[in-house]
Amino acid sequence: MTHVIDGNAVADRIRDDVQNCVTALEDEGVTPGLATVLMSDDPASETYVSMKQRACDELGIEGIHRKLEPEASADDLLETVIELDGDPTVHGILLQMPVPDHVDGTNALRHVDPLKDVDGFHPENVGRLVAGDPRYKPCTPHGIQKLLEAADVDTDGSDVVIVGRSEIVGKPIANLLIQKAPGGNATVTVCHSRTNALAEKTRQADIVVAAAGVPELVDGSMIGAGAVVIDVGVNRIDAETEKGYELVGDVEFDSAREKASVITPVPGGVGPMTIAMLLYNTVAAASIQTGVPVDLP
Ligand code: NAD
Repeated sequence: MTHVIDGNAVADRIRDDVQNCVTALEDEGVTPGLATVLMSDDPASETYVSMKQRACDELGIEGIHRKLEPEASADDLLETVIELDGDPTVHGILLQMPVPDHVDGTNALRHVDPLKDVDGFHPENVGRLVAGDPRYKPCTPHGIQKLLEAADVDTDGSDVVIVGRSEIVGKPIANLLIQKAPGGNATVTVCHSRTNALAEKTRQADIVVAAAGVPELVDGSMIGAGAVVIDVGVNRIDAETEKGYELVGDVEFDSAREKASVITPVPGGVGPMTIAMLLYNTVAAASIQTGVPVDLP
């Protein structure tokens, strides 16, 4: 029987841990604060930001929101980030990507104080992750690691194929899984749009992580018998639903499920973990900045 991982259930357990940390911080007079910065009218980005703010409210994390018009200047964005850097009630800053084309998003991310960089995208935090001494693990890759742990998947010595080499998913999950640390010790192959014979590589893998942003790219014929399949993709495809679309992953679920021993669904797999790990990083950031210890597993 294939184990379909319930990402919502695992995320709920992480939220309980975070809730305990919020209480411990509150007991010492610290309310953790997360600022979201949105410079876009894109409905998907607006939805992501409001989901993050709602999650903060539910756990007693102070949500601070800054909305900039898409026509605002790059300097306006930098001013906003610098103001939040200097605000002691803000422990985490999340700059919702993408920003408009006339703004250099990478440069804006570099202005986020590395101690408040709860996404883990600042070069200092990327460097620490690569060096094996992570401060904040990027949310989606960290969530994947937690899902594997929750499903009792032993990564030690396993062959992992990652489909996608982005800065926010592909590269950081590769870095986490090769760490000489619990939840790591894997042998990792990172594939991308220029990779030859992708299916031959994925078929050899004990664990396949699909993060390409291509609907149902990985089907059952590309999965080895008994493999673990983690589907990161979130793709909107036209459908006759109320909203006019449905969400599908980068994995063709039904055919992959027939081969896999463990698989994540879309929605309800990796997605809920990303927000849970953002909350996790926010309480970690509040603890680092105030010196109040928290117990995060
Ligand atoms: P991206 O577009 O930045 O990167 C995609 C990567 O896939 C690139 O490295 C590209 O080389 C590779 N790729 C594209 N087509 C390919 C192909 N045919 N064969 C092999 N490799 C191919 O995307 P991203 O930001 O890493 O996101 C990937 C997917 O994960 C998207 O669907 C995104 O919506 C989703 N995502 C989900 C969450 C979540 O919380 N669930 C978080 C982040 C991203």
